[in-house]
Amino acid sequence: MSSAVTGKALVGVSACLLGEEVRYNGAHKLDDFICGELARVVDLRPVCPEVDIGLGVPREPIQLTRSENGTRLVAVESGTDLTAAMESYAEAKVRELDAAGICGYVLKARSPSCGLGSVPIDGAGAGDGLFAATLRKLGGRLPTTEETNLEEAADREAFLARVLAYRRLRDLFDGGWKAADLVKHHTRQKLLLMAQSPDLYSQLGRLVAEAAGAEPADVENSYRLLTMEAFEQQATAERHANALEHMQGYLRKPASEADYAGLERKISSFRNGELDLAGVLADFRRLVKKHSVDYLSLQVYLEPQPAELLAGQEN
Ligand code: SF4
Repeated sequence: MSSAVTGKALVGVSACLLGEEVRYNGAHKLDDFICGELARVVDLRPVCPEVDIGLGVPREPIQLTRSENGTRLVAVESGTDLTAAMESYAEAKVRELDAAGICGYVLKARSPSCGLGSVPIDGAGAGDGLFAATLRKLGGRLPTTEETNLEEAADREAFLARVLAYRRLRDLFDGGWKAADLVKHHTRQKLLLMAQSPDLYSQLGRLVAEAAGAEPADVENSYRLLTMEAFEQQATAERHANALEHMQGYLRKPASEADYAGLERKISSFRNGELDLAGVLADFRRLVKKHSVDYLSLQVYLEPQPAELLAGQEN
């Protein structure tokens, strides 16, 4: 499901990362990538759990600590236990975000509320902040990450690829669906799935082929699960090259010998690391349009890919 206003995927984000002055000391943690490139291609929904449960700004710092009742969220100086308030808020907020169509979440590392696997407990170890723990528990395969995991281009692109895949699943399933809708959706994903994971691509193909005789809820659950598993894998250059060669096969007849050979050279250059994916896809897009190759023109793989979107090259 996309944002009703812009058509972009909706992504939750710890509010301090957007520059909102909501931290315990009244400061923010503005993140240039999130406020810049990412904000251009998704709709960001800022959330500050600590402000939302009524803690003011500035406020007493809080921390995670272990007790015989499990991990607790407590104020550092007063010892006030905020666990129940945060857990109750988090459950309601995660359900609200799900109903709004959220397709991903970027969390502030090391925060006792927002941190995802990086939060010190009693000053040592690493666990989830209480809000993030609920998001992990109720969010299923929702793409989540901390801002510290979005420093490298490859990690940024992989996160956006997961968000876009999740959004396409919502578009298919959230409003009710029929077997024909699933076939149409899957047909459009095929080459991208092939690049992500040839094995899961095959499993998903079998699932779709057998969908008509199966329980719809089971099909939906399995299709969502396997798709997100595929997008959690690394789409290596070799896998992309294989998907590109598969796509090239559809142009053998309509394209001229020179254009066909040109594609072969580009794929080879891509495989050798001399050309990026966008450089090859541009030629495919041109030839698919020129020769009206219906099957390829439907492919999500020929839509702007995460690296192009983040670079602002959408055509
Ligand atoms: S890390 Fe989370 S709880 Fe802390 S200030 Fe940022 S948004 Fe608020």
